[in-house]
Amino acid sequence: MSDSKPGLEKYPHLLSPLKIGGFTVRNRLMQTAHAKGYHSRDGLTNNRDIYYQAARAQGGCGLLVTGGRHVHPTSTGPGRTLVRGNRHENIERDSEMARAVHAFGGRIVAQIMHFGPQGRSGALDDYRVLWAPSAMKSPAYNECSKEITKAEMDEVSAHFAQAAINAKAAGLDGVELHYSHGYLHQQFLSFVYNKRTDEYGGSLENIVRFPIETIEAVRKAVGPEFTVGIRVSMDECTVDGMQADQAIEMTKLMVATGMVDYVSATAGTYAAHADQIPPGDYEENWLVERGAKMRAAIRSVRDIPMFIVGHIVDPARAEELVEAGAADMIAMTRTQIADPEFANKLLQGREDEINNCIRCNQACIARLMVGNAISCVVNPAAGREQRFGPHTLEPAGRSAHWLVVGGGPAGMKAALALRQRGHRVTLLEKSERLGGQVNLAAMLPRRQKFAFVTEDLERQIRKAGVEVRLNTPADAETVKAFGADGVLLATGSVPLKTGFTSTRPAVDVVPGMDQQNVLSVPEVLQDSSAVGKRVVLFDEDGGRYALGTAEYLLDRGHSVHLVSRFNALSPNLALTLDLPVNYQHVFRKGLEYTINSWVRRVEGEKAQLFNLFTDQDSEVLEADTFIIAAGHEADDALFRELDGQVENLHRIGDCLLPRQLQDVIYEGMLAGRELFDHSRYIEQGELEEFDDSWERAMLGTTTAPPAMKG
Ligand code: SF4
Repeated sequence: MSDSKPGLEKYPHLLSPLKIGGFTVRNRLMQTAHAKGYHSRDGLTNNRDIYYQAARAQGGCGLLVTGGRHVHPTSTGPGRTLVRGNRHENIERDSEMARAVHAFGGRIVAQIMHFGPQGRSGALDDYRVLWAPSAMKSPAYNECSKEITKAEMDEVSAHFAQAAINAKAAGLDGVELHYSHGYLHQQFLSFVYNKRTDEYGGSLENIVRFPIETIEAVRKAVGPEFTVGIRVSMDECTVDGMQADQAIEMTKLMVATGMVDYVSATAGTYAAHADQIPPGDYEENWLVERGAKMRAAIRSVRDIPMFIVGHIVDPARAEELVEAGAADMIAMTRTQIADPEFANKLLQGREDEINNCIRCNQACIARLMVGNAISCVVNPAAGREQRFGPHTLEPAGRSAHWLVVGGGPAGMKAALALRQRGHRVTLLEKSERLGGQVNLAAMLPRRQKFAFVTEDLERQIRKAGVEVRLNTPADAETVKAFGADGVLLATGSVPLKTGFTSTRPAVDVVPGMDQQNVLSVPEVLQDSSAVGKRVVLFDEDGGRYALGTAEYLLDRGHSVHLVSRFNALSPNLALTLDLPVNYQHVFRKGLEYTINSWVRRVEGEKAQLFNLFTDQDSEVLEADTFIIAAGHEADDALFRELDGQVENLHRIGDCLLPRQLQDVIYEGMLAGRELFDHSRYIEQGELEEFDDSWERAMLGTTTAPPAMKG
């Protein structure tokens, strides 16, 4: 690895050190606290989290913040996924995490919090009463909380103090008090949620009283040298909710205590969940103006650093913000989930190797929302660093020549890893460009970041030395004549146009689906000239594949009626947090829709619908064109021809089984490591062990791939 640091000239402010309370960070890049779902068993720090944090420190990130830690038994959270910061047993675990992050030059602060009303009373092994400033139903799980008493507030502050003492004892670099996103302390800071008539409600001075009492308790417990920060919402993003001006005044009061070392500014509450983790539909840099105002206001009280978040993805913009004094640290959290080496790649002038986050929320947030550990679509090693981190990419024992047929995401990912491990790789792609169906996904409204999947992988495989042959279809004879040592078939899938729905499994083909005016989504996106003015779209997908196509056509002047077999419009978008913003767009553009229904038959320009619960015929919809947004079937003809005739033949991605993008990129990674047998499986609980193995595994390694032979 080169010691050259061209990034210091290009990003002199972003890559400069910063003093934060009692410690100094090497640059202004950080990851904010984010739930990862890695602690499901016992609520204690474990290897999965340690390797995750260590990988990002090794990749050059300046400041890491742990996921939020519960401080009190009544802070339940949504499930068994967060660390219990008040538990003494965690000190040993956290000290290992601190040691790992420090070994790679990073700094790490523990975020401590009380979930308040946003938990679930039955999330753990018993039932608990949720606490809030005022008795009110929560938008998170629709549960009621009880108004917290003064004695209980004191108890919460004491638990914050104990969690801070534990963090300090573990050698972590500081604590961050979570005063945002709708949790207990943020609700005190909100006139929407805080309806108290005592000295803790009704005026600006009163609503900051409890948060300040907690700051005082923590500061008293840890002393003046230990770093204590606060995370605040600059905007509740709720109708009639708190906005920047009020947030600034409250923050100034807390900063004026002289007990706070930094402010981390964010936005959103549980009534505006997407604003906390905005999908790619949001404008980039959407919070920076409010952040700059807050930065200036804080500085007027006390010169402490302020951190900013808000879909900042361009390092040049981040550099501008730091240079202009609009913020002191730039939070690029998903950016560094997608690429733990982001900071080092900036520093070392390796920006052409960056895996860009595509803001899909598919493998991070959506997995968390269903109780799974987070990972990443474009970085399948995320959260699985023990098994698949850069330090685990071993050179091939014997350099071989691999042939990869199909240049979609799975084929490219496999080709890259094979090449990085020292194999010679030739990739054949039948069309004129790489990327496969992900290129179509990037055509949907506000999905342009999906193009990064193709662009990033193509750049990386070409740089690594994969021989790419475009416009090169491969048949069985081509593959056999090639004489490769190993063959990966990644020939993709073709869309189903049968009208099949899993809610009526006995009907293989809906009558009329063979009409010329019935098209699949890929056919529409490849060439929409055959689409008539009036469109009926049948949605057996429930996500952006269907709704995005509907909006794509609305944007081009078509009328669209979406018929969904689900009991809500595009329900899967609730998991990726892009439901509210997409509803806004399609409703404003005039989408019509019918839910709980499917198509009985299509005849000419008419579709007979029926209700899936009563099985009764319902509406008849008329259209010029009918579009099916359903599943795909594997394009595996080549595999079936070659099976048994070619040694070391494997199929991956959609041509094995059509699945989501994260599945096929993961499979490409496995194939690139030649993990085709049971060694591909991660045993349940394997990643959640606790020991010091990170040290043996990671120290002394660089994050660069092994030197290539041949
Ligand atoms: Fe970004 Fe998608 Fe990865 Fe999440 S899963 S970090 S949004 S690329």
